[in-house]
Amino acid sequence: MSKPERLTILGSTGSIGKSTLDVAARHPEKFHIYALCANRNWQTLLEQVTKFQPELAVLADESAAGQLRDAVKERKLNTKVLAGKTALAEVSAEADTVMAAIVGAAGLLPTLAAVKAGNKVLLANKESLVMAGSLFMDAVRQHESLLLPIDSEHNAIFQCLPENMSSLAEAGVRKILLTGSGGPFRETPIQDLSSVTVAQACAHPNWSMGQKISVDSATMMNKGLEYIEARWLFAAAPEQIDVILHPQSVVHSMVQYNDGSVLAQLGQPDMRTPIAHAMAWPERIESGVESLDFTRLGELSFSAPDLQRFPCLGLAIEASKVGGSAAACLNAANEEAVEAFLSERIGFTDIARINSEVLEQHSVIDVQNIDTVLAVDAQARQSAQQLIRTLTC
Ligand code: NAD
Ligand code: MG
Repeated sequence: MSKPERLTILGSTGSIGKSTLDVAARHPEKFHIYALCANRNWQTLLEQVTKFQPELAVLADESAAGQLRDAVKERKLNTKVLAGKTALAEVSAEADTVMAAIVGAAGLLPTLAAVKAGNKVLLANKESLVMAGSLFMDAVRQHESLLLPIDSEHNAIFQCLPENMSSLAEAGVRKILLTGSGGPFRETPIQDLSSVTVAQACAHPNWSMGQKISVDSATMMNKGLEYIEARWLFAAAPEQIDVILHPQSVVHSMVQYNDGSVLAQLGQPDMRTPIAHAMAWPERIESGVESLDFTRLGELSFSAPDLQRFPCLGLAIEASKVGGSAAACLNAANEEAVEAFLSERIGFTDIARINSEVLEQHSVIDVQNIDTVLAVDAQARQSAQQLIRTLTC
């Protein structure tokens, strides 16, 4: 029997991180938890370290890492505790497989480090592709990293495409149909959106997720980021992707072929399915997710998204078409705006307003290297913060 794969989880204390550990725990003969990494939640990480006894635990926050180190010592565990961004990147390069599940721009450098080490990378952190898609995909090719999508839609598309596809055209693909539920405000009167609360925005009708992606789902910025992600992952032209509303989240996305066939991947809205799929690919393993019961499903409906209700979706598609630094700028503005909404400094509809204004102010440049991306990210955050201040005073 072959040795278990050494798995590092970036963002192990989050929603995707916990689901990954749940799947890994079902297959100890296949996966050995090598390193667990998070931001500052040392208490949850301590519980995970106690259960999985990895070689390494890393926290981005130095003082939280200190607390974890003391607690690990007290429990007489053998896990070595490291701190800081450099350690995150170093650990990402060491394992066989890396689950990239840090939220936001903070995921870019450690995920890229895993790619550059030629590791198998299970990509949940869509923001790295949004920010630096061309550099990221170049690195995947250059370092022969195996990149497998975790985002349920992209995992579904991957499952519906032929293996070793050289291009969508050669595979006879007419369109990728990217589905999205429309989130909690699909039918809320548009005039009421300015006063929705954080709790309402985070209450996704079908999926249980971290706060940032939940708000992105409510604005449909998430679908916009996924549109950009899909363009990079599958080398798709803008006209090769359609976004379709599908409120039940049963069909996770589809691929339409030249002959009129449409292949779809269906399943429960539970991230353990795409996670298990990518972890075991090309095998199939038990994920803990129940099968769909078609006799009890009820109606599956589909419609076109309304870009007036969801301006963030339109902004992301536009930024993707413009190319260069536009998507990195939009992503950074959005992270700041979502953070301001979550801390109740701005209203829900201000998110789109800030994103639109920051993108408008931005002079698009070519993205030559990661430093350019980071500079655009920093500049866009500054512009967004300025706008947030004018809205709050
Ligand atoms: P989450 O908020 O639940 O967890 C985020 C994780 O990232 C935590 O472990 C946190 O400690 C870590 N983190 C945050 N900032 C960090 C930093 N500066 N350094 C190191 N670690 C840091 O988020 P989530 O819902 O699990 O989402 C994670 C990623 O997966 C996001 O990019 C999201 O878009 C993507 N994704 C999530 C889902 C889902 O169902 N939750 C589905 C598809 C894609
Ligand atoms: Mg998704």
